[in-house]
Amino acid sequence: MTHVMIIGGGIVGCMTAMELVNRGCRVTIVERNQIASQTSGESSWAGGGIIFPLLPWQYSQAVNNLTRDGASFYRELSQRLQLETGVDADFTQSGFLLLPAFDKHTAVSWCDKNQVPVQAVKAAAFNVQSLSGEDALWLPSICQVRPPYLMQAMRKWLEQHNVTMLEHTQLAPLQETQQLNEWRTVNGEKLSADKFVVTSGAWSFDLLKETSAKLNIKPMRGQILLYQPDKNLEQMVYREGFYMIPRLDGYLLAGSTLEDVGFDNGVTTTIRDELRLKAEAIMPELKNQPIIKHWSGLRPGTPENLPTISAHPSIKNLYLNTGHFRYGLTMAPASAKLVTSLILDEPTEIDAQPYKCAI
Ligand SMILES: Cc1cc2nc3c(=O)[nH]c(=O)nc-3n(C[C@H](O)[C@H](O)[C@H](O)COP(=O)(O)OP(=O)(O)OC[C@H]3O[C@@H](n4cnc5c(N)ncnc54)[C@H](O)[C@@H]3O)c2cc1C
Repeated sequence: MTHVMIIGGGIVGCMTAMELVNRGCRVTIVERNQIASQTSGESSWAGGGIIFPLLPWQYSQAVNNLTRDGASFYRELSQRLQLETGVDADFTQSGFLLLPAFDKHTAVSWCDKNQVPVQAVKAAAFNVQSLSGEDALWLPSICQVRPPYLMQAMRKWLEQHNVTMLEHTQLAPLQETQQLNEWRTVNGEKLSADKFVVTSGAWSFDLLKETSAKLNIKPMRGQILLYQPDKNLEQMVYREGFYMIPRLDGYLLAGSTLEDVGFDNGVTTTIRDELRLKAEAIMPELKNQPIIKHWSGLRPGTPENLPTISAHPSIKNLYLNTGHFRYGLTMAPASAKLVTSLILDEPTEIDAQPYKCAI
């Protein structure tokens, strides 16, 4: 049985582990913190959970292939997780209301071409404020999931399937080699496996810079506010880079930001005020509501939002599944299937070429 070691227990690492288990591998996840907990900046706990690439018409076909395929697995995946673990990831088809300004012609043509139902509507019909009098677009098929619950469900499923979790264990940056059979922790312990997969999110370049100088991944911070309004939205709402996501239990998320501030995972009052004003412009009743929580996460930022899903170009037994930037939750199931096919040397369902690791 092939033993695969996964470095990083965020959503990408956990989904990769699940897929490898489903295809008959023995799996170990090495995580420097704790899997499925809110710790120092990891992206997966912090995400909004929209299973859709916000404005897909702005992305390449390679990005949209992964988000489309990833999104298509979520309904069945969350049902399976609930059935087998008892943890409900709150997968919900809450729909997505796109408020102006946007390029209506491009948006509608993209939706029509990609069979995503879309309808021109008035924002007032959804009890939200549209600053311009123009039509909004309603995409009723778009879904969301609750990232902390999804991570808990994944963790439980992986435990039930005998995945070894080496937590509070940090791997040291990899040195140049031709073939990888073991990898040292920062404490000098050697961990061995048949194959290794880097799913270390924003930290992937730090781990691989000696061996993959062209890997272009850097942290991009996103901050989110949490409300619990007296009357919640019934659908997700997006306006010009800002979104609001209502949860089933009455909470409401408002975010996010794209900040190039290195590995600083703090939150700032300036951003809190900016997000608060944007939220109140859409939902004036929030002026009377306290902000219950404010957090941030570090996304694995990449040019054009294109992840690397690939064998390492020169090191045998090493694979990468990282750099999913703004859409790692959406892409994770499809990305996990692709990297697993590469690891097992089986045909891939989608063309792997666009995600190849640069030499
Ligand atoms: C505010 C915000 C909102 C978002 N909203 C959405 C959304 O609505 N929809 C969507 O699809 N995506 C969204 N995203 C993006 C999505 O969350 C990320 O793309 C995804 O979480 C990346 O997952 P990951 O597993 O690659 O990284 P992470 O979750 O960051 O996991 C990487 C893991 O690797 C571990 N690690 C790093 N280095 C080492 C080492 N040396 N040894 C051992 N372990 C190591 C880290 O501790 C970490 O746990 C959002 C992100 C943010 C921040």
